[in-house]
Amino acid sequence: MSEFHNNLSYSQIDLFHQCPRKWTFKYIDKIDTEQKSIYLDYGSAVHKGLEFAFWELKDTNTLNKNEMMKTIADLSLDYAYGDKDGELKTLAIKDMERLLNYEGFYQKIKNKEIIGIEEEFNLVIPTMLCGENIDINIKGFIDLIYRDDDDKLVVVDHKTSKKKFDKNKRRNNLQIPIYFMAIFDKFGEYPKSGIYNFTKLNTFQESLFTEKITDEQNELMNKRNPKTIWAKGIKESKKEIIQTFKDMNNKKFRLTTNPSPLCYFCDYKAICTNASNWKPKEKK
Ligand code: SF4
Repeated sequence: MSEFHNNLSYSQIDLFHQCPRKWTFKYIDKIDTEQKSIYLDYGSAVHKGLEFAFWELKDTNTLNKNEMMKTIADLSLDYAYGDKDGELKTLAIKDMERLLNYEGFYQKIKNKEIIGIEEEFNLVIPTMLCGENIDINIKGFIDLIYRDDDDKLVVVDHKTSKKKFDKNKRRNNLQIPIYFMAIFDKFGEYPKSGIYNFTKLNTFQESLFTEKITDEQNELMNKRNPKTIWAKGIKESKKEIIQTFKDMNNKKFRLTTNPSPLCYFCDYKAICTNASNWKPKEKK
């Protein structure tokens, strides 16, 4: 049996779509850059803080302000090295306060049944490559799953980024369709929607479930600022994941570079032969 790279995650798929060469440096050549990232550490700390608070809510039906603030204080040690003026800690406290008061996104989860927190999944998508039957395994964790008043499930992913997703990213992103498929495997039902909770920005974006995008839905989403976005359909998402898996296992395709302004932030730019020279403009 051939050795295929078939153990994936959503972040691997996303990275491969950004730049196949970058994905190869990380997952095939296994070049670890070991650079400490304040934003990654801050993101993990916020996720841990929310996980703690949601477990408490699930187990006791209450939120304990003192415990939540203590958790933030403890977790902020994880990223304090880059948070000299305490800006990130202030943002994390504001987010916890919104949760305590059920404001912004958290209004949605007030009095709802919490079904899963950091719910682990392993989605299996069978396919064929070079005449062999292969299972593509996509592993991950879903930050939060709750049941809404209409008895339908909703999946939530907490984001700590500085920017919301644009229309294109919301329409084409595979993260929420992967969660929909994983939920179907675990609970035997598709959620009605997936929500990105932007904790720093006090806002959220919702994508509705559909098996297949209809012409009518497509037309509505083509508007400049569409009110409603449907996540990519299940069939189309599976097709795209299978194609990505095949490209990942194509030795020539793996070496494809995708130079863009993102190269400036790429940990591998010093060893990449095709990195873009783009630099941010210096502030005057
Ligand atoms: S420097 Fe740019 S082209 Fe090279 S691996 Fe990184 S993102 Fe890809």
